[in-house]
Amino acid sequence: MSILVFVESAEGQIKKTSLEAVAYAHALGSPVTAIALGAVDQGALEALGKYGAQKVLHASDARLNEGVIQAYTSVLVKAMQDENADILVLANSSLGTPVAARVAIKTGASLATNVTDLPETSSGFVVKRSIYTGKAFAKVELKNQKKVIALKKNAAEAKEVGSNVTVTPYAVTLSDADFAVKILSSEKATGEVLLPEANIVVSGGRGMKGAEHWGILEELAKTLHAATGCSKPVSDMGWRPHHEHVGQTGVKVAPQLYIAVGISGAIQHLAGVNSSKYIVVINKDADAPFFKAADYGIVGDAFDVVPKLTEALKAAK
Ligand SMILES: Cc1cc2nc3c(=O)[nH]c(=O)nc-3n(C[C@H](O)[C@H](O)[C@H](O)COP(=O)(O)OP(=O)(O)OC[C@H]3O[C@@H](n4cnc5c(N)ncnc54)[C@H](O)[C@@H]3O)c2cc1C
Repeated sequence: MSILVFVESAEGQIKKTSLEAVAYAHALGSPVTAIALGAVDQGALEALGKYGAQKVLHASDARLNEGVIQAYTSVLVKAMQDENADILVLANSSLGTPVAARVAIKTGASLATNVTDLPETSSGFVVKRSIYTGKAFAKVELKNQKKVIALKKNAAEAKEVGSNVTVTPYAVTLSDADFAVKILSSEKATGEVLLPEANIVVSGGRGMKGAEHWGILEELAKTLHAATGCSKPVSDMGWRPHHEHVGQTGVKVAPQLYIAVGISGAIQHLAGVNSSKYIVVINKDADAPFFKAADYGIVGDAFDVVPKLTEALKAAK
């Protein structure tokens, strides 16, 4: 029995959430086979060995360059058979979750999404899931022999445990039915660091007073190699693009560090950031609700604090 891990990529590089999925699968104990679909950098594939994959399969068919859910499902179902895998692990992402559901139906597997921990196996196979946008947890037992686990961001640490492995080409047979939905074009968000993937996010709210003041946040973000985000009113008012809007109705982020500047901390905003490892809040109102969710807080005027913070970080570098 082996564990199959579907690894996602962007711009040829393996996504951090997929490295976490490989590390999680490695911690489960059985031999891990990682599979990547479409165009992926060869070096990035070989490096999957460092995170715990004993074997790496690469289906480089150009039709898989776009994330076509039906086609990805077909390839993963076949790969589970070929690898004699009872467990599929993947990232709980906009691509991973629908693929997970379809693979579970086609293989008769038990499915758990948003999984946050390794299973308890003393009695059955019980995993913990994050529910209600991260405000609660549920324990669920996966009873079928086959299991599909969609792992929540930051649920496992992608640490190096091995060394590079050789990549094996994986031939796929795809039919027209696998491409019943055709992606005609896709618009990629621009910017140096993509928000959903970022390790550090610098986010601004209405307290920034206007689009013309975002320079100090961009400078801080550049210094930290961070992505920029914002609250909903900020994108509604057109100060920032909509793809930067963080929260219940926007992007849900799970960086190592989330820096919130001039954001009050409404529940709908917190729903998108409460999986962050550390939260730093900068707000001039000491009673702003965000401070209750913060690991560190600075009570002060953003226009005073942020440039000083950026200068201090530059000096520390
Ligand atoms: C159905 C629904 C869904 C929603 N979804 C989302 C969502 O996904 N994401 C989201 O963000 N919101 C969402 N909202 C809106 C949410 O309820 C809040 O209204 C919003 O998050 C507030 O944005 P804000 O914190 O930027 O603005 P405000 O609430 O106006 O807060 C501004 C903050 O800036 C501080 N401030 C002012 N000046 C300075 C200064 N010079 N220096 C430092 N601090 C300063 C103030 O003290 C204040 O705390 C949703 C609302 C609804 C009803």
